[in-house]
Amino acid sequence: MSKQKSSKVPGFYKLSVKQRVEKLAEVAGVSAKEFEALLDLKTADLMAENVVSTFALPLGVAMNFVINGIEFIVPMATEESSVIAACSNGAKIARIHGGFTTECTDPLMIGQIQLLDVADVKKAESALMQNKEKLLSLANQQDNVLVGFGGGARDIEVRVLDSPVGKMMVVHLVVDVRDAMGANVVNTMCEALAPVISELCGGRARLKILSNLCDKRLVKSKAIFDAEKMGGDEVVDAFLESYVLASIDPYRAATHNKGIMNGIDAVVLATGNDTRAVEAGAHAYAARKGQYSSLTRYWKDEQGNLVGELQMPLALGMVGGAGSIHPSALLAKKILGVSTSQQLAEVVASVGLAQNFAAVFALSTVGIQKGHMSLHAKNIAVMAGAIGDEIETLATRLVEDELVKIDYAKKVLEQMRKK
Ligand code: NAD
Repeated sequence: MSKQKSSKVPGFYKLSVKQRVEKLAEVAGVSAKEFEALLDLKTADLMAENVVSTFALPLGVAMNFVINGIEFIVPMATEESSVIAACSNGAKIARIHGGFTTECTDPLMIGQIQLLDVADVKKAESALMQNKEKLLSLANQQDNVLVGFGGGARDIEVRVLDSPVGKMMVVHLVVDVRDAMGANVVNTMCEALAPVISELCGGRARLKILSNLCDKRLVKSKAIFDAEKMGGDEVVDAFLESYVLASIDPYRAATHNKGIMNGIDAVVLATGNDTRAVEAGAHAYAARKGQYSSLTRYWKDEQGNLVGELQMPLALGMVGGAGSIHPSALLAKKILGVSTSQQLAEVVASVGLAQNFAAVFALSTVGIQKGHMSLHAKNIAVMAGAIGDEIETLATRLVEDELVKIDYAKKVLEQMRKK
């Protein structure tokens, strides 16, 4: 699956950007030249409307990932400092016990057709079930390519909901979208089925659109985090005490899950996937039991190690959408070396777990600000007006003095320049 020799490259973070590219070309089978491909205005103009420029973000790589026994270097696009470092650190601790193990459902998306004014819901439901095969076949006629890749419409389900505008039927079309994210294909199928379904049911079809709560397209990633490496039994207990708040309190769960999405969004964005679709699915799934809660679970195993597990829906595509056009997304997918949407989801879920572990670990021990601020020091140096070599020198000084603050940075920069 992956061409990478090893995702553990000691001292990678200490290299210059040029040296990192050379190293990556060596270990990930991507040529240094490929890193030069950037989004040009002509391509950008095809992707969105009223385009006037492009917007760049840092693209980094998370190291140390072993997933189902395979090495992965994971590209991440993020503007937030410390995300990639924390993620790599989480993966490094997980690899002591073999890294991440994952499970994935088939890539099943749900499309909704809303039906109003259905006089006899029971009769309508039985008409739908009697014509199920005919309806699935009509849906599949909309996308021969998808069917050719082994995907296609699989099932029809009916839900009946009470609402302020009366009882309504919601017909769910379940589609195996294979390596696509699936929104366009599902929407096309729903629109094609809607007139036929409304005639069969004797009602009016209103909405015909995919649901982002794709709870039939789930992925689970699990890892063991070594107790000794974490600092012993007390640290594992401190971790579990911190985690438990996210499991019972939506105020904490929101921040806890934001930490998961720090990693997930960065890979989703780097691979040209739809961050909003993934976010919507994640948070709706986190609230599926009626109360918003943590997407991860943690417990202690018999050896006293910490076990973590993340389960969530992930609608990701290897084909289609911006990921097939954006040169950086094409590069990111090449670095990653996955070929199916399920493999991509397994990597992304593992990144989410590593990211969440690293955040709660830091919060339970030294606190998050220490690591965060030292990585943020370069941003502060730039904000204070440092340029060129000044940035590194000033950032180092701010960290040494434990004063990563803009007013202090300005004062030190002034002194540096006077010298
Ligand atoms: P798409 O239509 O660009 O590509 C999917 C198509 O690629 C399939 O229909 C199929 O014909 C073809 N294909 C080729 N090889 C395939 C393979 N191996 N497996 C599966 N299909 C293959 O994209 P899409 O995935 O249908 O839609 C994704 C886009 O829709 C994203 O850009 C997303 O932002 C956008 N979108 C999202 C929403 C939402 O989330 N609510 C709504 C509308 C649009």
